[in-house]
Amino acid sequence: MTFIYSREMPVKARPDVLVCGAGLAGIGAAVAAARGGAKTMVVERNGFAGGFFTAIVGSAFDGFVDERTGTPVVGGLVFEMLERMGVVEPGQAPHLRFNVKGDLTWVEMHPERTIPRCDPERFKRAADAIMEDAGVEVLLHTQVADVVAREGHVEQVIVSNKDGLVAIEPQVVIDCTGDGDAAAWAGAAFEKAESLQPMSLHFRIAYVQPTYELRRRCAAVLEKAHERGELGLYAGPYLATFSGRDAYFNATRYPGDNTNPEDWTQAEIQGRKDAWTMFEAWQRELAEFEEAYFMSSGPVAGGRESRRIVGDYELTEEDVRTGARHSDVIVLGAWRLDQHPAGSAGYHDIAWIPPYDIPFRTLLPRDFDNLLVAGRCHSATPGALAASRVTATAMGMGQAAGTAAALAGDASLREVNMGALQTALRDAGAILQAPESDVEVGDPDF
Ligand SMILES: Cc1cc2nc3c(=O)[nH]c(=O)nc-3n(C[C@H](O)[C@H](O)[C@H](O)COP(=O)(O)OP(=O)(O)OC[C@H]3O[C@@H](n4cnc5c(N)ncnc54)[C@H](O)[C@@H]3O)c2cc1C
Repeated sequence: MTFIYSREMPVKARPDVLVCGAGLAGIGAAVAAARGGAKTMVVERNGFAGGFFTAIVGSAFDGFVDERTGTPVVGGLVFEMLERMGVVEPGQAPHLRFNVKGDLTWVEMHPERTIPRCDPERFKRAADAIMEDAGVEVLLHTQVADVVAREGHVEQVIVSNKDGLVAIEPQVVIDCTGDGDAAAWAGAAFEKAESLQPMSLHFRIAYVQPTYELRRRCAAVLEKAHERGELGLYAGPYLATFSGRDAYFNATRYPGDNTNPEDWTQAEIQGRKDAWTMFEAWQRELAEFEEAYFMSSGPVAGGRESRRIVGDYELTEEDVRTGARHSDVIVLGAWRLDQHPAGSAGYHDIAWIPPYDIPFRTLLPRDFDNLLVAGRCHSATPGALAASRVTATAMGMGQAAGTAAALAGDASLREVNMGALQTALRDAGAILQAPESDVEVGDPDF
């Protein structure tokens, strides 16, 4: 059943660059475009920027380092965000080696190899400030609702907010919605895996002191609850802390597609149920939870994988596994092949990989001349996306997309000179070549 609906609506703005979504990629894209001289606007459906770090509440800047050496492989705006949050001193980031053992000011991901944390409230403020300083026009509580495109050219983006439906007429659109909403609604080709990685609703417990030992004990309780049939699918659990006296749990797992409204609704409802089931089991069985308090869930359940926009090049799992080089590299990926299974509970295998190049062509939706995608919805196979979907990589892609959009002006994005783009990125602190390492993939130390 369908019906036709048409109405006149105001054109709210005519920016050079419109960034859709102010998550990791979106912040990178908006700041880079504005610093490149483009009049830039970003629209974000939440009341704050930060995407994964603030809306789902994760903590780890995955993809930030080559884990063989602890050396950063994504620089530029990622460094700047770490500085603005006070995680590192100005100018310090490129010289750090992120192998800090057991220090709770760092996120616990692996006993010996850790990566910097991003406290959600500090991230929100740093995101506000970096965009304000760059002169980005930010419109929060504004959701992309539709796109008008003709012959491979986006003409208007329709957004919905408390003004109702309004149009924005940009020269270039950068889709950083994670789900490729704008690109898909413009008519760009996309793919979706048959079995998507599951969604998760994170939750925060106060008055517990996270340690590796506690993580192990929490996992043992969940395993038993799962065996008894009290708890269905769950992940890990993975723990992070921002104060040393609280724990964020990445532990619920709901299979489905977050671009399907019914699935996403159930991920929230089932996620809350499961989070409380876990919390109550830990309270019953672990002395460490005696004083524990369930502080919050969400804000929202997050989707790890949905639409993958088909670009001029599709990054492959082979590229990722072999550390493939590409002449149009715009950021390095370095996170592991981290494909959460949709059908099994607990921990999953995460194969380690060497740093690999992400080509600019994976940001260019096929058949469009003024549209870019960056972040989780870029052009990659499901196997490749298992590695490239993460935060630092997404922000690096965003920085490249914003820089390219500013360089393109009103020309087609395919006319951007790759040498000029790479020089501009390097000048802005981006890293386009991984430092040498003699540690081979498969080496027990890797
Ligand atoms: C549960 C979970 C755990 C994860 N754990 C980690 C981890 O530990 N470390 C790590 O590095 N990565 C992790 N990831 C991956 C990480 O979230 C992302 O893939 C990464 O943030 C991608 O950045 P992005 O900018 O593409 O998307 P996001 O950071 O999600 O940003 C997308 C932004 O677009 C906005 N948006 C979406 N649709 C619209 C619309 N129609 N209109 C307006 N705004 C819109 C969203 O509100 C959001 O702010 C995890 C993901 C999930 C779901």
